[in-house]
Amino acid sequence: MTNKESLRRHLLQLDNRGYKAYKDIQGNYDFSEFRLIIDYVQGDPFASPSKFRVRVPPNIAQIPRELFNSRSREIALRDYLTRQFDKAAHSISSKRGTGKSGLIAVTRLGQEVLERTSAFITPPTPPYQGGEKISISPPYQGGEKISISPPYQGGEKISIFPPYQGGEKISISPPYQGGELGGVELRFIVGLPAGGRSILGRQAAEMLCEDIPQIVSQSLEYANLNAAECRRHVETVEDADWLRQQLAENGLVAFVADGSILPRRTGVDNSPLLNNAVAFQSPPSLKVEFNCPNRGRISGMGIPAGITLIVGGGYHGKSTLLRAIELGVYNRIPGDGREFVVTNPAAVKIRAEDGRSVAGVDISPFINHLPQGRDTAQFYTENASGSTSQAANIIEALEVERMPVLLVDEDTAATNFMIRDRRMQELIAKDKEPITPFIDKVRQLYADYGVSTILVMGGSGDYFDVADTVIALDNFQAYNVTKKAKEIAKNYSISRAAEGGENFGKITQRVPVPASLDPSRGRRNVRVKVRDVDELAFGTEEIDLGAVEQIVDSGQLRAIAAAMVYAKQQYMDGKRTLSEIIDLVMADIDARGMDILSPFPEGDFAMFRGLELAAAINRLRSLSVVAK
Ligand code: ADP
Ligand code: MG
Repeated sequence: MTNKESLRRHLLQLDNRGYKAYKDIQGNYDFSEFRLIIDYVQGDPFASPSKFRVRVPPNIAQIPRELFNSRSREIALRDYLTRQFDKAAHSISSKRGTGKSGLIAVTRLGQEVLERTSAFITPPTPPYQGGEKISISPPYQGGEKISISPPYQGGEKISIFPPYQGGEKISISPPYQGGELGGVELRFIVGLPAGGRSILGRQAAEMLCEDIPQIVSQSLEYANLNAAECRRHVETVEDADWLRQQLAENGLVAFVADGSILPRRTGVDNSPLLNNAVAFQSPPSLKVEFNCPNRGRISGMGIPAGITLIVGGGYHGKSTLLRAIELGVYNRIPGDGREFVVTNPAAVKIRAEDGRSVAGVDISPFINHLPQGRDTAQFYTENASGSTSQAANIIEALEVERMPVLLVDEDTAATNFMIRDRRMQELIAKDKEPITPFIDKVRQLYADYGVSTILVMGGSGDYFDVADTVIALDNFQAYNVTKKAKEIAKNYSISRAAEGGENFGKITQRVPVPASLDPSRGRRNVRVKVRDVDELAFGTEEIDLGAVEQIVDSGQLRAIAAAMVYAKQQYMDGKRTLSEIIDLVMADIDARGMDILSPFPEGDFAMFRGLELAAAINRLRSLSVVAK
């Protein structure tokens, strides 16, 4: 390993040489305050930027342990440090030549606090740091001293001389509790500077040897951070996680805190609307109260399990409320306005998505007797209709998640999938209509599978009959109108015939055919590529994820792409079902982190759910399956 000064000299020597000569600087440098690791060097100034890491040791970063002593806090802290690094990099870095020259940046960040591979707290818990006693059972008889080498960092092997013959397990006791201070690993990208295609050595030396140390010092040394803000970030996320955990045992599927600001600034800007936003207030009869670990008492609207309708006139805030609930599966940064809108983690937005492909999904609970005798127990199409796509979206969610909560907005639903009224039943006989509308299935979903639904429906009162709770929005204010809606349902009978049969029907599991997922376009190299948050290139295919509304971050899409490759390589064997494969992949990530998804340290993966991984696989046009 070489140090900062030798890197500086090296960069100055490279001045004016062809860009490829930068490849030489790949490696590991001791910057005394931290270590700089150059993992990958770009091939030219216009190519995707170089990949760097810094490792700031605990004695320099000095992050207090209380900021990362729970899983929620650790994820929040990593997110916070990423944001601080991003901010410092923005203010210090500047364009220094052609292409991406001069760029220093981290992954793109939105309103959500997600687990990311951009930052890690080191040492990760619970590594053995030396000093603690190791106990061996039965007691080691060798007499020789036991040496641990290299210092045990968790995961490294422990060697004992002479070799221990007992065969029993070695336990480290007492369990390591971690030091009092944390260090940081931060991953970022750098555009190594060039004039035309020749190296700008002096600029590179400034960037790497002056700017980076300054960014690191400003953003990764606790002494230079805003302690109160950092604490608030961590505590907000911990409270939100805690609230989400309270939902199930309180019979709720979502909670919207009083005072929340739900509307966004514009259709393309997810920051909160500042002027004229009406803060959310729970109707008294739906109000629940919790005592959060950090902020203490909080009140808001609890949406009970079952079937909930959100009604109200056009433009009165229905979709805005549902969108906040959709994203309540994630945590938000302080100041977002929706920090304490939390939703059952298995909540899934369901919408119509005509044009998508569907691979062998059993949509027969909703759709039967299609023209030309098309099979709906194993429904294949390259071009789904509104109703068949919406049916497939529901069944696919049920396939991977035992008890999802369905979220539906009339704005993006297929009308003929949602309702079929009395007059239409009269005109078009049941045996001429392939679709059993959602209204006749929604109660069965709850009764048979415990699946709750929250539905925005301003246009049809037919749903009053099947709803447990009806919330009206009027000038952005919420009211509980359940009683009134039920009375109306009684007094104005629609006398339509229920068409749903006895039960919802069976959920058929599918087994993906491994050869139908090919990330390598028939060659050796895997090709996955991500554009923004809604398109993924997988092998020769483009997967359109624009309608998968709970993918909110391009880092999620990058991780999903890598997880698809991982799933194929590790678990697709032509026998396992898609849901088994997803469970195995998610369990591996849970146990070992997202780094298992890539051969090199990736800085721009963000955590996703099994539901979204399944959504990406399900939209692969080449996918073929066999029924289990
Ligand atoms: P709906 O689905 O009922 O037709 P939307 O949710 O689409 O209504 O909201 C209509 C408009 O009102 C949007 O521009 C939205 O940003 C804004 N809006 C929603 N909720 C609020 C609120 N609480 N305060 C102020 N404006 C809001
Ligand atoms: Mg709407």
